[in-house]
Parts: sequence; structure tokens; C-alpha cells
Amino acid sequence: MFINEQLSKEEYTARIKEIYPLTDEKIKEYEARAYKLSLKIPRKYSQISKCEGCSGDFLTNCRDCLECYDCYEDEHYKYVWNAPKNNKFCYDCTGINTGELILECVASAVGSYNVGYGVLCWMNDFNLRYCYYCIGSKNLFGCAGIKRAEYAILNKKYSKEEYEKMVPRIIEHMKKTGEWGEFFPIKHSPYPYNDTIAQEYFPITSAEALTKGYKWHEETPQELDKSADAKICAECNKQYKFIPQELSFYKTLGLPEPKFCYNCRYQHRFLRKNPKQLWERDCAKCEAKILTTYSPERPEIVYCDKCYTKMLY
Ligand SMILES: [Zn+2]
Ligand SMILES: [Zn+2]
Repeated sequence: MFINEQLSKEEYTARIKEIYPLTDEKIKEYEARAYKLSLKIPRKYSQISKCEGCSGDFLTNCRDCLECYDCYEDEHYKYVWNAPKNNKFCYDCTGINTGELILECVASAVGSYNVGYGVLCWMNDFNLRYCYYCIGSKNLFGCAGIKRAEYAILNKKYSKEEYEKMVPRIIEHMKKTGEWGEFFPIKHSPYPYNDTIAQEYFPITSAEALTKGYKWHEETPQELDKSADAKICAECNKQYKFIPQELSFYKTLGLPEPKFCYNCRYQHRFLRKNPKQLWERDCAKCEAKILTTYSPERPEIVYCDKCYTKMLY
């Protein structure tokens, strides 16, 4: 088969011979043909398999996970992205693993229980609030960079009784100032917005970032490399180079040398992924309502789970 066309062995071999060596023009032409063909083939509404009561994308063996992405073997979630295994009752988190009752946390859990508004809080943490990089600790509030600690507020140790008296008072105060129940304010982020993957998924301009109070990384002008093997990217005008292994790889596969720098090539591949966002759409076959990562204006034929499975088997 060649782009879904049945050929004899001889015709097929001749067709393949015509392709190589590939040029940029040929790649563009075949990409366009493959894309045109792909539009005739129905897509599954989302990559969800062996799940019950879930919505999102790339979910496997999950139960009751709503608006979640890249999760595996998890239960009772909402707004979680990238949770590889065995998490339960988590809300608004990114990058968690084997935890329970994890709320608004980033890169946390790993055997932890009842952790809220934390970054890098892991390895059997218990009952932490507003902590940053605290490991194997219990009952901490507003602490940073401590290990195996107990009953501490702002890194200062208290007795159990003092701790239990002070924490409700702090929460009460934070409720009045509107700070309680929200993740750390963005002004505390050590990273410029465009140095994080947020810029890949939700791209904004430097002006927008600065208006919102986000840090922004202004690139210093690149020092030009005048050597003969330095290339200029056809998209962003930045310089880039190939290493000998790359060149021999392209040669082996009969591919032309890329005209774009590494970052632009990454961006092109990234744009082929569906966004981490859900839209309501009708199944193109049975018209059932579906929640899908294909926005309604996209040209793909999108099927619900039932119709897609029926088509396959
Ligand atoms: Zn570039
Ligand atoms: Zn359907």
C-alpha cells in the first residue's frame, strides 16, 4: 500500500525509489497528501482507554478523572496534568505521583498524604500547606527547604499544641487577605514565563506577560558565529549548527538537512499535538455529545467512543 493505494510489488518499489533522496519540496508535497488523506479517517474524540467517568486526553486505567491529561491509574481527580500512577482525590495539580489528597501542587506527592499548595513536597510528606521543597515531613505550614521536620511554621519549630493553635489563626488571617485557598502568587515564581512549558501550551507575548506581572526572559543578541558550518534558521533567523552524527543520520535516511533551528523544529512538532483543552462537539456518526480536544472548527471527523470502537472492530 502507498498512501492507501494498492500497488503491485514492482509498482511499490518503483514508487519508493522515486521518493529518495527526499527534498524539502517532496516532503511538503507528501505531508500535504498525508494530511488530506488523514482528514477522511475518523478520529477518536480523545485518547482515553480502560477508563470510567473520565474526560480529558491520554488517560489510561483511570476512574472519575475530570478534565485531566496524561494520567495513568488514578482515581477521583479534577484538573490534573501528568500524574503517572496511583494517586487518589487530587485537584488542580501538575506532576504528581503516588499521593492522596493532593491539592494545587506541582511536582509533589511520592507517598504523600494531605498536601496543599506545595511545590516539590514529596517522599512521605503529611499534612503540609504552602511549602516549597520539603521532604519526609509532617505538619508544616509555609516552610521551605527542610527535611524530616515536624510542627514548623515558616521553618520555625513549635510544640504540637502551639502549632495547632497558630495554624487556624494564620488561615483565618489569610482568608481575610484573600490568600487562603490559592496557589503561591506568580510574583514568587523564580522562573520567567517564557522559560517554562507554560509558554509552549499557552503562548503569550512579552507585553502580555509583563502586564500580568509575570517575569520574562529577554534574550541577549546572539554572538554571530562566522564559521562556514553555522546556519541561519529560515524561521527565527537564529544561528544553529549540525553535529557530524546528525549529518550522517540525515544522509543514511536520505533526508535533506533541516532549514530550521532545533527550537523551531521542536515547535513545529509540538503544534501537531492537540491542545490540553476540551470542547463540546457532536459525534460525526451518531451525533452524541462529546468532550474532545478537537475544537469544533477543526476539519477532522471526530467519533465518540462507541462509534470509533465499532468502526475498528
Ligand atoms: Zn529557528
Ligand atoms: Zn457516536
